[in-house]
Amino acid sequence: MRGVPITIRCDCGDARPVHYGERWTCAACGRTWNTAQVPAEEYWGLMRDLRRYRLIVWGITAIIVGTLVPLAVIYSFGLFVFVILGLGALYFLVLPRWRSRIVERIRDRPTWKLTPE
Ligand SMILES: [Zn+2]
Repeated sequence: MRGVPITIRCDCGDARPVHYGERWTCAACGRTWNTAQVPAEEYWGLMRDLRRYRLIVWGITAIIVGTLVPLAVIYSFGLFVFVILGLGALYFLVLPRWRSRIVERIRDRPTWKLTPE
Protein backbone atom coordinates (compact mmCIF):
# COMPACT_ATOMS: atom_id res chain seq x y z
CA MET A 1 0.00 0.00 0.00
CA ARG A 2 1.26 3.47 -0.88
CA GLY A 3 0.57 6.55 1.16
CA VAL A 4 0.42 10.16 0.18
CA PRO A 5 3.82 11.46 -1.05
CA ILE A 6 5.94 13.52 1.32
CA THR A 7 7.16 16.83 -0.08
CA ILE A 8 10.89 17.11 0.43
CA ARG A 9 12.27 20.62 0.35
CA CYS A 10 15.98 20.56 -0.36
CA ASP A 11 18.36 23.00 1.31
CA CYS A 12 18.95 24.53 -2.13
CA GLY A 13 15.27 25.36 -2.49
CA ASP A 14 14.23 22.60 -4.89
CA ALA A 15 11.27 20.50 -3.79
CA ARG A 16 9.72 17.24 -4.85
CA PRO A 17 6.97 14.88 -3.65
CA VAL A 18 8.49 11.50 -2.76
CA HIS A 19 6.73 8.34 -1.63
CA TYR A 20 7.46 7.08 1.84
CA GLY A 21 10.48 4.79 1.92
CA GLU A 22 11.97 6.20 -1.28
CA ARG A 23 15.08 8.30 -1.84
CA TRP A 24 15.41 11.41 -3.92
CA THR A 25 18.62 12.90 -5.21
CA CYS A 26 18.27 16.59 -5.90
CA ALA A 27 19.24 17.32 -9.48
CA ALA A 28 20.29 20.87 -8.64
CA CYS A 29 22.78 20.20 -5.82
CA GLY A 30 23.22 16.44 -5.60
CA ARG A 31 22.03 15.96 -2.00
CA THR A 32 20.21 12.69 -1.41
CA TRP A 33 17.18 12.63 0.86
CA ASN A 34 15.64 9.50 2.33
CA THR A 35 12.00 9.53 3.45
CA ALA A 36 12.69 6.42 5.55
CA GLN A 37 14.07 8.86 8.15
CA VAL A 38 10.47 9.84 8.87
CA PRO A 39 9.17 7.79 11.82
CA ALA A 40 6.95 5.07 10.35
CA GLU A 41 4.39 5.32 13.16
CA GLU A 42 3.84 9.06 12.61
CA TYR A 43 3.54 8.71 8.84
CA TRP A 44 1.28 5.66 8.79
CA GLY A 45 -0.75 7.06 11.69
CA LEU A 46 -1.60 10.06 9.53
CA MET A 47 -2.38 7.83 6.53
CA ARG A 48 -4.60 5.65 8.74
CA ASP A 49 -6.56 8.66 9.97
CA LEU A 50 -7.11 9.98 6.43
CA ARG A 51 -8.20 6.55 5.20
CA ARG A 52 -10.62 6.19 8.12
CA TYR A 53 -12.23 9.58 7.35
CA ARG A 54 -12.64 8.57 3.72
CA LEU A 55 -14.06 5.15 4.58
CA ILE A 56 -16.62 6.62 6.98
CA VAL A 57 -17.91 9.06 4.34
CA TRP A 58 -18.12 6.29 1.73
CA GLY A 59 -19.74 3.91 4.22
CA ILE A 60 -22.46 6.39 5.17
CA THR A 61 -23.09 7.22 1.50
CA ALA A 62 -23.25 3.53 0.55
CA ILE A 63 -25.70 2.75 3.37
CA ILE A 64 -27.99 5.64 2.42
CA VAL A 65 -27.91 5.01 -1.31
CA GLY A 66 -28.00 1.23 -0.95
CA THR A 67 -30.92 0.98 1.43
CA LEU A 68 -32.93 4.16 1.73
CA VAL A 69 -33.17 5.08 -1.95
CA PRO A 70 -34.55 1.68 -3.09
CA LEU A 71 -36.94 1.62 -0.13
CA ALA A 72 -38.14 5.12 -0.92
CA VAL A 73 -38.61 4.31 -4.61
CA ILE A 74 -40.50 1.09 -3.83
CA TYR A 75 -42.73 2.36 -1.03
CA SER A 76 -43.60 5.97 -1.64
CA PHE A 77 -42.77 9.06 -3.59
CA GLY A 78 -43.03 11.16 -0.41
CA LEU A 79 -40.33 9.10 1.24
CA PHE A 80 -38.23 9.42 -1.92
CA VAL A 81 -38.46 13.23 -1.72
CA PHE A 82 -37.60 13.03 1.99
CA VAL A 83 -34.51 10.94 1.24
CA ILE A 84 -33.40 13.36 -1.48
CA LEU A 85 -33.79 16.27 0.97
CA GLY A 86 -31.87 14.27 3.56
CA LEU A 87 -29.04 13.65 1.10
CA GLY A 88 -29.02 17.37 0.28
CA ALA A 89 -28.77 18.24 3.98
CA LEU A 90 -25.98 15.72 4.37
CA TYR A 91 -24.14 17.23 1.43
CA PHE A 92 -24.52 20.86 2.45
CA LEU A 93 -24.48 20.64 6.26
CA VAL A 94 -22.52 17.56 7.31
CA LEU A 95 -19.89 17.16 4.60
CA PRO A 96 -18.40 20.69 4.94
CA ARG A 97 -17.87 20.09 8.69
CA TRP A 98 -16.40 16.71 7.94
CA ARG A 99 -14.14 18.22 5.30
CA SER A 100 -12.90 20.90 7.70
CA ARG A 101 -12.01 18.17 10.22
CA ILE A 102 -9.94 16.44 7.56
CA VAL A 103 -8.31 19.71 6.49
CA GLU A 104 -7.52 20.42 10.16
CA ARG A 105 -5.93 16.98 10.54
CA ILE A 106 -3.81 17.61 7.44
CA ARG A 107 -2.86 21.11 8.61
CA ASP A 108 -1.76 19.72 12.00
CA ARG A 109 0.37 17.08 10.32
CA PRO A 110 3.90 16.83 11.59
CA THR A 111 6.84 18.19 9.64
CA TRP A 112 10.09 16.35 9.76
CA LYS A 113 13.63 17.60 9.46
CA LEU A 114 15.60 15.15 7.36
CA THR A 115 19.34 15.10 7.01
CA PRO A 116 20.87 14.51 3.58
CA GLU A 117 22.72 11.22 3.15
ZN1 LIG B 1 19.12 20.55 -3.76
